[in-house]
Amino acid sequence: MEDVLFQNVSKQYDQHNEYALKDFTLQVNNGELIVIVGPSGSGKSTLLELICGFEDLTQGDILIEGQSIKDKLPKDRNVAMVFQNYALLPHLNVYDNIAFGMRIRKESKEKTKEKVEWAAELLELTPYLKVKPKKLSGGQRQRVALARAMVREPKLFLMDEPLSNLDAKLRDTMVQEIKALHDTLGVTMLYVTHDQVEAMTIADRIVILNEGSIQQVGIPKEVYQNP
Ligand code: ADP
Ligand code: ADP
Repeated sequence: MEDVLFQNVSKQYDQHNEYALKDFTLQVNNGELIVIVGPSGSGKSTLLELICGFEDLTQGDILIEGQSIKDKLPKDRNVAMVFQNYALLPHLNVYDNIAFGMRIRKESKEKTKEKVEWAAELLELTPYLKVKPKKLSGGQRQRVALARAMVREPKLFLMDEPLSNLDAKLRDTMVQEIKALHDTLGVTMLYVTHDQVEAMTIADRIVILNEGSIQQVGIPKEVYQNP
């Protein structure tokens, strides 16, 4: 079953400029992990920003479970985004950082506690719940950002170069963890990176973007064996 459908999606930030994204068409299956690779400026971030509503489409449509995102407010789209800079709140401890979005949505205290503890356990953060972000390592901070996205139980996970601030060794570990997390949760994921090895490691399918257009789509072996 298809989960996300991009229909000729185009984005032009300014009438006088080039298209940041041009005629992007792709069908994403339920539970699939799609990695989007491409050079800087190829439109990767734009694609994610359109889905979560930071930007409006110029042309085309995006359907999530058959429904156009144009008919849903960003907060009702059931998508969660994880950024490369984590965007944690420095004055809040790990527990409160993870719980932040649930509190804004006025979830019950019991449900919040249950979900925060569940996510913390899965990401090995239980010992750090009372700690402030500045005491954590880069990998732990990234896990907090993942946990905060997870507790929203999103249907669709968006990750914009989530590991680019980590050193190479930690990146290898975290790539495996994100893959395991994806398999455990069974969510659909769109994962942006410019790292080919990262893409090869976790992707079900890879989309190569260039100047706003799809250059190639396929399973990792196809994409990197027939460039
Ligand atoms: P990537 O994430 O692959 O680096 P982006 O989606 O950030 O690419 O950018 C694609 C194109 O859109 C680039 O030419 C970039 O300069 C342009 N762009 C991105 N954001 C904006 C913006 N807010 N206003 C104008 N142009 C933008
Ligand atoms: P309140 O809304 O009264 O502040 P909460 O249930 O939100 O109560 O929890 C209060 C604080 O207790 C949280 O901000 C968090 O820092 C801490 N806390 C709650 N559960 C745990 C836990 N399992 N481990 C560590 N700290 C916790």
